[in-house]
This record gives sequence, structure tokens and C-alpha cells, in this order.
Amino acid sequence: MLDTLLHRGRRKQLIEQLSKKYQFKKEILDAMGRVPRHMFLEYGLDLLAYQDKPLPIGAGQTISQPFTVAMQTELLGLSKWDKVLEIGTGCGYQTAVLAELGYRVFTIERQRALYQLAQKNLNRLDYHSPTQFYGDGFAGLPKFAPFKGILVTCGAPEVPSALLEQLAIGGKMVIPIGNGTQTMTVIERSSEKEYFKSEHGAYKFVPMLEGTEQ
Ligand code: SAH
Repeated sequence: MLDTLLHRGRRKQLIEQLSKKYQFKKEILDAMGRVPRHMFLEYGLDLLAYQDKPLPIGAGQTISQPFTVAMQTELLGLSKWDKVLEIGTGCGYQTAVLAELGYRVFTIERQRALYQLAQKNLNRLDYHSPTQFYGDGFAGLPKFAPFKGILVTCGAPEVPSALLEQLAIGGKMVIPIGNGTQTMTVIERSSEKEYFKSEHGAYKFVPMLEGTEQ
């Protein structure tokens, strides 16, 4: 699939729409304006890609709504070169947005088919910097910790303790918490032992599940 003038036009409209819904940082909207969301989706969904809606990506999972991608990225509050861990690679779209922002990206997916889909999507679009892992996000990536940002793109029943430990002091975790409907939650680590929690509205994500799936 190509990034045609039609796709570019629709993408521009989507970004304008997002900018009216919330005052996102310009660099975030610019980054999303550079990532061809339709090229992460299967053929036939391409003209739906620039509506502000979640869409199916296979294996019973969905690509997050663009507004949610922008908001989670905004809440992370990261700068270029910061190290970020994403839980739930899915089709790799959010991963690409983080890479466009110049963050050092690590991402984990528990379903092998999606891990492979994201690998294919990211390689084809020349996003070679993110490091992808097939594994269980509940464990995080202790070998690569600490992370300045941790972004969970699935609904967690509670905050995984391994992820709290892997958060850098001064870093933030953005995590939707709850079963069914989730509360977007930001957890900021202010010292070795202190964490501050803030809540940022209701969302609906696919669930964060334990273990891996072939
Ligand atoms: N960021 C993705 C969103 C995909 S939906 C995108 O832009 O497409 C959330 C993803 O989280 C799903 O692919 C699901 O398989 C994955 N997931 C759920 N529980 C997980 C876990 N414990 N570890 C890693 N990934 C998980």
C-alpha cells in the first residue's frame, strides 16, 4: 500500500481535528502527521485509518484511537533521547510515533502474530530504531531498566510491581487501570520509594493479559 495524496490529505485533517480536541504539544501532532497509520492496517481498512477511532488489527486486538495515542504520549512528557518502554506493541503504530519523537523505544508484545506484524510494519516503513520483544509485559525488561517513561497500551487490572521498579526516578508511567473501563493513570516516581498518582479520565482498552500466546 502507498501513502497517496488522498491518505496524506485525510491524515492532515485528522491532525487538525485532534488539535481542536486538546492542546497537544506541537511535536506530538507533527510526529503523528508523519506516521502513515493506514500502512499499519490490513488492506481495505486504509480509508478508515484517518477517522479518530480504534480499528481491528487481528488476534482479537485493536489499534488505539488516535486521540488516545496522542494523549498517552502527551502524558508521558518525554524529551528526545529519553528511554521509553511500551507494553503492547500491537501493530506497531504507537511505537512508530514514539520513534518519530526521537525517543529510545523498547516495546513488548505477548502475541507472537502481532509481534511479527509489528516487525513487518516497522521494517517496511524504515523504523529500525525501536527494539522489539516477544514476552509478557507484566515482567517489563529489567535488563534495560530504568526507563524515563513506561507506556501501557492495554487495560491493566492493577499497576504491575515490576514496572514500578523499572521506572527511573523523575520518570512517569502512563497506564490505563481497571477491568472493562479503565481510568487513565499517571504514576510519577519522585524518589527511590515515593510515587505520585494522578487520574486522567475514562478509556476503553483491550485487557492486559498474563503470559504469552503463540
Ligand atoms: N500500541 C498498540 C495497541 C495495541 S492493543 C498499537 O498501536 O497497535 C494492546 C496490545 O497489548 C495487544 O496487542 C495485546 O496483545 C497486548 N498485550 C496485552 N497484554 C500484554 C502483556 N502482558 N504484555 C505485552 N503485551 C500485551
